[in-house]
Amino acid sequence: MQSRRDFLKTAALAALGVGMLTQDALAGEKRKPSLFHVNRKVGVNPVMRLRFFPYELRLNHVFTVASYSRSTTPDVQVELEYDGVIGYGEATMPPYLQKELGTMESVMAFLKRVQDTISRFPDPFQMEDILAYVDSLSPGDSAAKAAVDIALHDLVGKLLQAPWYKLWGLNKEKTPDTTYTIGIDTPEVVRQKTRECAERFNILKVKLGRENDREMIETIRSVTHLPIAVDANQGWTDRAYALDMIHWLKEQGVVMVEQPMPKERMEDIAWITAQSPLPVFADEAVQRLKDIAALKGVYTGINIKLMKCTGMREAWKMVTLARALDMRVMVGCMTETSCGISAAAQFSPAVDFADLDGNLLIANDRFQGVEVVKGKITLPDLPGIGVVKV
Ligand SMILES: [Mg+2]
Repeated sequence: MQSRRDFLKTAALAALGVGMLTQDALAGEKRKPSLFHVNRKVGVNPVMRLRFFPYELRLNHVFTVASYSRSTTPDVQVELEYDGVIGYGEATMPPYLQKELGTMESVMAFLKRVQDTISRFPDPFQMEDILAYVDSLSPGDSAAKAAVDIALHDLVGKLLQAPWYKLWGLNKEKTPDTTYTIGIDTPEVVRQKTRECAERFNILKVKLGRENDREMIETIRSVTHLPIAVDANQGWTDRAYALDMIHWLKEQGVVMVEQPMPKERMEDIAWITAQSPLPVFADEAVQRLKDIAALKGVYTGINIKLMKCTGMREAWKMVTLARALDMRVMVGCMTETSCGISAAAQFSPAVDFADLDGNLLIANDRFQGVEVVKGKITLPDLPGIGVVKV
């Protein structure tokens, strides 16, 4: 039987379309200096071709909030092919975020425009030009842009035969633990879910900002002492109340707070952050690189999500800028396959907190990539974003 490592190696070869490549060459023992030493069956002038199709993500559990419940998330899968190598990407559009991220229709229409024009770029390594062009096509469409960006990163990483964490100079041993969200439910169900999660994860996440915040935390604390990350989702409306809550949460073993008040309340949030015993992260208040400078002094850190920020290239610039401003960084996600999650995980060695549980919530993942091992994000050694189709 193949070990998992052998399976991934073989699958990586298949994904690369380099069946003729020997294992020795893969191990780097017979590497030649050329980036394109692999003897692919190629045309003389390869061009980039984009393919995409709708793919509905089926959730393991029905997702319920006050106003509605749902059991699926719309998603579009993208493939970018060049010289016999395929890069994978995806756009995911949870219904409550479609105004920001796009709808199935808008994502498909945007990708069609990229499909019709991307062949004008002869060299996939000119990522800055290609992605600036993609970004220029419309003011929004961040999820569709992220899909192209992720596929291009996967493609380029495969052409270079290196994963992006290596191209960025990161140490894969430094990946953080991922949080896992305990959903709002009856105390009995919360206790049960917490028990299950406490065995698999080292840090939990809870959505607060409701009437029953203390009850929710106390229920979890009746089962486990694991650290908790709190996301208030803009739910607290009074700054003194929010600060009191944060002090109480600190006593309860909470380690960070996300978006305590509505994003427009900059002064109030700055007042909270200045006195808060816990780091305060912006989520709703930050989408892209240009948003960060104004948040310095208002929040301790920012939450970066690929679907909001147009992909890995901008995400990495956001990490760099936030660090330069002496701000902290976390990485978050939507409901996604292991494609989007593995892409985001590539820069996770550079973040303080990771909330990358989106692929664990779906029943029809198309990919195998990053894994959670004893609660820690664990990157494979595969090139690009590190995924193989399953
Ligand atoms: Mg959040």
